[in-house]
Amino acid sequence: MKAFYQLCILIGLVIKTHSGPIPANIGKEEDDLAKNYLKKFYNMKEEHTRSARSTDHSVSKMGEKLKEMQEFFRLKVTGTLDTETLEVMHKPRCGVPDVAAYVDASGSYRWTKNELTYRIENYTPDMSQAEVDHSIKRAFQVWADVTPLRFTRIYSGEADIMISFVVGDHGDRSPLDGPNGILAHAFAPAPGIGGDAHFDDDETFTFSSSKGYNLFLVAAHEFGHSLGLDHSSDPGALMFSMYSFRDVKKFLLPQDDISRIQAVYGPNSDKPVDPEKPVPTPPVTPNACDPKLVLDAVTMFRGEMMFFSKGFYWRNHPQSSEPEQRLIKSLWPEAPDNIDAAYESPLNYLVYLFKGQKVWAVHGYDIVRGFPKTLSSMGLPRKLKKISAALYDRETGKTLFFVNKRYYSYDETTKTMDKGYPKWVEERFPGMTGKVTAAFQYRDFTYLFSGPLVFEFGYGRLLQVTYNSYLLPC
Ligand SMILES: [Zn+2]
Ligand SMILES: [Zn+2]
Repeated sequence: MKAFYQLCILIGLVIKTHSGPIPANIGKEEDDLAKNYLKKFYNMKEEHTRSARSTDHSVSKMGEKLKEMQEFFRLKVTGTLDTETLEVMHKPRCGVPDVAAYVDASGSYRWTKNELTYRIENYTPDMSQAEVDHSIKRAFQVWADVTPLRFTRIYSGEADIMISFVVGDHGDRSPLDGPNGILAHAFAPAPGIGGDAHFDDDETFTFSSSKGYNLFLVAAHEFGHSLGLDHSSDPGALMFSMYSFRDVKKFLLPQDDISRIQAVYGPNSDKPVDPEKPVPTPPVTPNACDPKLVLDAVTMFRGEMMFFSKGFYWRNHPQSSEPEQRLIKSLWPEAPDNIDAAYESPLNYLVYLFKGQKVWAVHGYDIVRGFPKTLSSMGLPRKLKKISAALYDRETGKTLFFVNKRYYSYDETTKTMDKGYPKWVEERFPGMTGKVTAAFQYRDFTYLFSGPLVFEFGYGRLLQVTYNSYLLPC
């Protein structure tokens, strides 16, 4: 137990030292941005009077609204406009509020029929009409697959869901805002404008590329609103209010969205079950508190720890006690969906991400030109299918590439693999008998992960074995 507390103290050093928010240096521009954001998405009311008392009131009102937003995005709840909160406010997102501002007495909206019509009123010049048609059709199919709802396209007259590309003020008292920021909005089920979806044509919409904003992904999200869903605070959900690119070809509706839409409309009862084609399991956002949590990779990234699992990362901001959890693709759209291993090189501060026989180097938010490269470009054997973990070893100045129970030693300066490898991990780390699935070093400690367990080495020996989830505050 003592060892466990040591680990907690150590991790506390990393994750909790700088726990004070950084509210300083907020200029008028940022303050206005924040006020606008809270008015639009958190139903913050305009203050009309300017007496000292009402200013105090408006400050506390803004604090309350900031807290609401921070809770929604799972940020540290400070009630002040810190850098982390501002960063979220700058991200592209849906124009629908995160708190339901106009919910009626029943608290929810739904269609009272399962047969719905839609009509595409106009097109964006960014894509071919066939690409728009296909993106919209597929976006409806996402919801039809898991509910009894069926969507039919009509070409004239009033459809339940009218779809248009518009810019700026377009007559519904919810103006769009030019490039980035708000990408689209949609109205909850009701006659008239209810159900309709408006896409901001000041954005660049795309069909399959990771550049611009993918129309299928934006539309599938908006149609969730057209069917009555509000935003989810699950960072993996399609109904999360912030836009994130994901692999469109392999897109599967996440479990959180399935559960929420089925709570309203029920499941799709006539989905044909083909025993030859097993139904793929919907993605579930990994939970930091799960004792069975398995990490795919861990690395340092610009002084922060980054933990990877199933396509998501947790990153601890220095000023936050709660690590931010997002899809890997929301940070690096061109990175793979999920990764096998990662490490940061102290020589060039690049982070290397590994998946199968490929390696990506990232610099900040960009993939370095010329990547992905092959594992063999780093001196690893050509026949090697993948590595399971990697870390930069300060003691020897070498990078260690783990392949289950064995490891290779790579010299970053000469860019060659050391002779005499692979060796058994246990020779170098006595007590590490399992396969190494993730690895990293922090200060004088080496952490080798094996499934849900983490082995902590320091002072030349194994200090303790504990669960991954202890490394992530929850
Ligand atoms: Zn939305
Ligand atoms: Zn609109």
